[in-house]
Amino acid sequence: MSVDPDCLFCKIVAGEIPCERLYEDDEILAFRDINPQAPFHALLIPKIHLATLNDLEPEHAGMVGRLFLVARLLAKEHDLPGYRVVINTNPEGGQVIYHVHMHLLGGRQMKAGLG
Ligand code: AMP
Ligand code: ZN
Repeated sequence: MSVDPDCLFCKIVAGEIPCERLYEDDEILAFRDINPQAPFHALLIPKIHLATLNDLEPEHAGMVGRLFLVARLLAKEHDLPGYRVVINTNPEGGQVIYHVHMHLLGGRQMKAGLG
């Protein structure tokens, strides 16, 4: 399924729900998180609907690699000398929205480690 009509992030991709767009190309969209956990907090998503990291197939490897390149680009554009990327997966991983997304956080000192 490349689009799930009930998915919030698919609606954002379709322009049905507004967002503050930071980056867009044919396969990736990045926008500001509505509830930022850092001075800079973006979400980077594939435009196709993939619910979790567990739904990725080898054919998605290029797109996943390009997500990291977009993270790097946004960090540069927004003058982030350091940053953190996170992909929450499934309820135990803290995932709330079931459309794969990479959090890009920066603009404050992150604690070392993940505890
Ligand atoms: P996760 O817990 O990894 O599934 O993260 C979901 C993220 O989506 C949270 O950080 C929310 O603040 C964010 N979020 C939810 N709704 C929106 C929205 N309409 N626009 C931007 N970010 C959103
Ligand atoms: Zn979706």
